[in-house]
Amino acid sequence: MLDIHKIPVPTPYPVGPVNSYLIKNSPYTLVDPGPDTTEARDALMSGLASLGISLSDISRIVLTHGHSDHCGLASWLSEIAGAKIYVHLYEYRKLSMKYDFYQERLSFFQEAGLPTEVLKEILEDVDPLKKPVLPTNGISLLRGGEVLEFGGGSLLVLHRPGHSDGHICLYDHQSKILLTGDFLLKLISPNPNMEPDPRDFSKRQPVLHQYLDGLAAIENIGVRLILPGHGDNIYHSQSVVAKAKKHHMERLAMITSLLDGNTFNVYQLTRSLYPRIKGFEVYLGISEIFAHVDYLLAEGKLTKKESNGIVFYSKSCL
Ligand SMILES: [Zn+2]
Ligand SMILES: [Zn+2]
Repeated sequence: MLDIHKIPVPTPYPVGPVNSYLIKNSPYTLVDPGPDTTEARDALMSGLASLGISLSDISRIVLTHGHSDHCGLASWLSEIAGAKIYVHLYEYRKLSMKYDFYQERLSFFQEAGLPTEVLKEILEDVDPLKKPVLPTNGISLLRGGEVLEFGGGSLLVLHRPGHSDGHICLYDHQSKILLTGDFLLKLISPNPNMEPDPRDFSKRQPVLHQYLDGLAAIENIGVRLILPGHGDNIYHSQSVVAKAKKHHMERLAMITSLLDGNTFNVYQLTRSLYPRIKGFEVYLGISEIFAHVDYLLAEGKLTKKESNGIVFYSKSCL
């Protein structure tokens, strides 16, 4: 049996603390060490100390995904502990020094009809945490399907894109426990972040299809307990999965009705749904609308036409 312990670690974001998980079986493994702040380091160290573990006892660091609230401390911890970092290769790409998050998405902003002054506002809304960068050595790249062995159990690595392209969940089949990172949370619906296809950066990944497929896979796998990346444990996975699906179905219906008899670009749709958002929230809004519009288009529910590089959508007549 795996001996899994939750250590809440504070973050400077509205989402609140991130859950770091210690697997206290050999080799001692930490999932998502938390953000790179003094408060987070202190909370992590005192959480580990209360479990009788010091930083140097950690042999493996597993990252569910590359967002800074989850993985900011990975480099620091791996250096102190001499621990290897396990991360999906699509996330590792984003955790390099030269990676530019917005640069890869500029063509999508143009396609969305985002005004220049709003793009400037997004770019000026600087993250309170510096971008995490992983070392070039001591990394084990994951693709999904790997098994992390422990004395007394194992965790299966499941590739679950939809919130982030290289997001993984970890499944303990013995106890039917699933560590979901940000893929599934009890009270919040994770943002389906727009992601360029790493094989062709001009295309977007079908993030909502990927996310809904991942939710179906959770229903099929048989889960007794979900340990999420934020908030409380989930004992009734079916109702949380159903709630997440309902959230997206309602968004799809809302966007379809906005486009019934109207033609809008993604920025106009974002402003219709979220008139008051600012800065990085606008990025999140655009990201969410793209996820749903791309889904509806692939399902044949919308038609699109381009004008001066901006794409406009309307409800399909079929
Ligand atoms: Zn995240
Ligand atoms: Zn998170």
